[in-house]
Amino acid sequence: MPEHRILILDDEPEIGQYVATVAELSGFESTYFSDPDAFFAAITVWPEACAVIDLQMPALDGIEVLRQLSAMKFRRPIVIMSGVDRKVLESARHFAKAHDLEVSDIVSKPARLDELRQIFERLRGSIHLLPTRAELADGIARREFQLHLQPKVRLVRDGEDGLSYVPLGFEGLMRWQSPSRGLVMPDHFIPQIAAAGLGAEFSNHLFDLALNTLKSWNEADIDASLAINLSASDVEDLSLADRLWKRCANAGIDHQRIIIEVTETAAMQHPERALDVLTRLRLRGFLLSLDDFGTGYSSLVQLQRLPFAELKIDRSLISDCTSSEHTRIIVKAIIDLGHNLGLTVVAEGVEDESTLELLQGWSCDLAQGYLLARPLPPERARAWWLAHRNMNGRPVASE
Ligand code: C2E
Ligand code: CA
Ligand code: CA
Repeated sequence: MPEHRILILDDEPEIGQYVATVAELSGFESTYFSDPDAFFAAITVWPEACAVIDLQMPALDGIEVLRQLSAMKFRRPIVIMSGVDRKVLESARHFAKAHDLEVSDIVSKPARLDELRQIFERLRGSIHLLPTRAELADGIARREFQLHLQPKVRLVRDGEDGLSYVPLGFEGLMRWQSPSRGLVMPDHFIPQIAAAGLGAEFSNHLFDLALNTLKSWNEADIDASLAINLSASDVEDLSLADRLWKRCANAGIDHQRIIIEVTETAAMQHPERALDVLTRLRLRGFLLSLDDFGTGYSSLVQLQRLPFAELKIDRSLISDCTSSEHTRIIVKAIIDLGHNLGLTVVAEGVEDESTLELLQGWSCDLAQGYLLARPLPPERARAWWLAHRNMNGRPVASE
């Protein structure tokens, strides 16, 4: 059963108590705090609890609370409450989103009883949808996850009209084949895995799948590269590079075929530690790719210190290329910048030919997206490779 606990932070005791009572009426265990430190201590004790926070408090304002929850990698639903106007509440929601926090509702004070009841009912509904720590731990232990594979291609210009591509490899994207839930997508388990502290178990499962994939490709003479995604907790694990390298050596896999994708946000959470871990990976010969570029806040000077070989432009930018002149300018500038820093530039989320043509005109090196193929189960990925490896045809929506 999912845990039904709510931790409430509000400097006004009467309000805090009132919200706690309503939460209890809706079937939650709830605890109310007026002191932010006590609230944060409780979060570490109950990382699976949901949070209700007041935006305006004398000791610490709500944005600071959000910042701290983000630093603690809090990944459970948050309800924001405040007497400030709706616009401020909305910008708090944006702030939270940019910091990987999940705001399930925003409430203007004074909150009406029926409004709060509805919010807590919704919250209960959404918690039921999220896997619990125990379920995830079982799923990982039983090896219920699969690696789907999305092709990554090099763009080439040939002849007069000629836009074509050469298949290079795949990005591995995890799916959870849960016996009770069916096929679960990463957005519904990656944050929960981080919140549940199961990062190391999960990445071990991922490495198993990645190495098995490469082994099966070797047997079938498929020389594709394989990109895998690491999360923030992996990037803090000093033993990661050695572990992965040894496992490749034992399995007889050339580690140069593995590309490691790390998001800007994960790399910047603890920049010194990330520099250490990523440099070790690079020294071990793995290629590093900076994922979701253009969505975070990191400075390019910092990024340049990290040993990346590749930069992936986030799909939110790519999908706006055809409709927004402003975005086109940004994307073109990122491609030039990447090239000036000696990086291979990848566009992800390419969904139509006109976007692909723009990217090609700006000398973007690689592309990935539904236009070329969706993430495919292993058997279909293999068939895609065999059908495309010798073909420099114009892209068609083949999958
Ligand atoms: P990501 O690394 O940015 O992966 C790309 C996501 O964009 C994938 O979603 C993919 O299916 C989707 N995508 C690809 N082409 C298109 C397109 O043309 N249009 C649109 N609209 N979407 C496209 P998916 O598979 O749901 O993965 C979501 C995120 O989950 C990934 O984002 C990655 O951050 C995370 N993730 C997936 N597998 C792993 C894993 O093994 N480890 C970790 N740490 N994170 C993972
Ligand atoms: Ca990725
Ligand atoms: Ca990405």
